[in-house]
Amino acid sequence: MENTKAKNIDFRTYLKSYPDKNGYFGQYGGAHLPPELIRPFEEVTEAYKTICHSAQFISELRRIRKQFQGRPTPVYHCNRLSKELGTTQIYLKREDLNHTGAHKLNHCMGEGLLAKYMGKKKLIAETGAGQHGVALATAAAYFGLECEIHMGEVDIVKQAPNVARMKVLGAEVVPVSHGLKTLKEAVDSAFEAYLKDYKDAIYCIGSVVGPHPFPMMVRDFQMVVGNEAREQFVEMTGYLPDAVVAAVGGGSNAMGMFPAFLNDPVDIYGVEPLGKGAKMGDHAASLTYGTKGVMHGFESIMLKDEKGEPAPVYSVASGLDYPSTGPEHAFLRETGRVNYDVIDDEEAIDAFFKLSKTEGIIPALESSHALAYAMKLAQKEDNPGFVLVNLSGRGDKDMDYVLEHYGDRL
Ligand SMILES: *Cc1c(COP(=O)(O)O)cnc(C)c1O
Repeated sequence: MENTKAKNIDFRTYLKSYPDKNGYFGQYGGAHLPPELIRPFEEVTEAYKTICHSAQFISELRRIRKQFQGRPTPVYHCNRLSKELGTTQIYLKREDLNHTGAHKLNHCMGEGLLAKYMGKKKLIAETGAGQHGVALATAAAYFGLECEIHMGEVDIVKQAPNVARMKVLGAEVVPVSHGLKTLKEAVDSAFEAYLKDYKDAIYCIGSVVGPHPFPMMVRDFQMVVGNEAREQFVEMTGYLPDAVVAAVGGGSNAMGMFPAFLNDPVDIYGVEPLGKGAKMGDHAASLTYGTKGVMHGFESIMLKDEKGEPAPVYSVASGLDYPSTGPEHAFLRETGRVNYDVIDDEEAIDAFFKLSKTEGIIPALESSHALAYAMKLAQKEDNPGFVLVNLSGRGDKDMDYVLEHYGDRL
C-alpha cells in the first residue's frame, strides 16, 4: 500500500507527533487556502500554540467546563439494554447531558476563549443543520462576542427552530442564496466574510475538519470527553472497556473519545452513516466510499461527483451528512489502529427507539449510529465484554422528524 510506514506508529507519543508542524497527519490535513487567508490561519495557529500552554487559559477553560457546561458528564451503565442483548455490557459517555445537549459546545467554548485571548470581537462560521451555529452562538453570548452564522436559504427553512435559537442567543444569521443554497455555499460565504474581517474576527470550524490548525485544535478541545470517560470507566468497573464506539460525521466527537484509548488494548470503532444504501447520494460514508482529495481547505478522503466537487450526501442524521471526514480519521484508518464501519438509517432508528424505551434516554440520531453499532457488536459470537459508546447528543431536536417519518412505530 501507499503508506506502510503508518503501520509502525508509537501510540505512546502519538499526540506529540501528530499533526506535524504543517498540520499533516501522514498524508492528510494541511492548510489549502487562498494566499490572502494563509496569514490569518497562521496567526490562529501561533496564538493557539502559545495559549494552550498558559496556566490561565487552562484554568479558565476548566472553570467554564465545570460551571457553565456541567462537566464532567457521567458514564452510565445500560443495565436493561445490556440484559436484553445478552452478555455484553454497554456503557454510555453522556455528552447529551452537556449544556445545549451535545458535545459541540466543548470546542465552541474553547474557540470562544481563544478569540477572547486574541482580542477578537466576532465569531464567524457556517452551519448546515444548525447545530454548530447554535453551539457557537451560545459561546459568543457567554463571552460577549458578536456572532455571524452563514447558512444556506434551503437550510434556513428546514432548520427553523435552530435559526430561532441562534437569533435568541443574539447571533446574526446570514442567508446564502446562490447555488444549491446549502452547506457548501455557506462555507464559501463564511470564508469571504472572514477574509474581509479577519483582523477583528475569528473563523470557527464546527468539527475536526478545515485548514490547520482546526483539526488539531478541535480535537484537543474535545479530548476532555475521552480523558474523563477512561478514568470514570476504570473507576466504575476496575477495567478498561474492550471496545470504544463513536459516530463519525466530520469526526469531532470521535476524535474526542479515541485518543485516550489509542495506546490501550482496546478496539476502537468509528461509525459512518450508510443512509439508504451504498449508492452515491444515498449515504455520507466518506471514508468507506470516498477517495483522496482537497475541499474546504484540507486534504482527506472525500465523496466527489464527476466534476470533482463535493458530492451530494444523505443521512437520517443531519449532523452526519458531510461529504468528507477530518484528516486524522483518514490517517488513523490507514494505520489500522481504528476500524471504520457503517450503520444505515433503519439500524440507527431501531437503536433510537430501543435506548429510549429500555433506558429512558432519547439519543440524537447521530449518536444512535454509534449505539446501533455497539448493539451489533453485542450480538456477535465473539462479542466484547464491555463496550463504551460516545452518546454525543440528545434526541429532542430529532423528535419532529422521527414522529413524521417513523410515527407508526409508536
Ligand atoms: C454534529 C453532531 C455529530 C457529528 O459531528 P462530529 O464532528 O462527527 O462529532 C454527532 N452527534 C451530534 C449529537 C451532533 O450534533
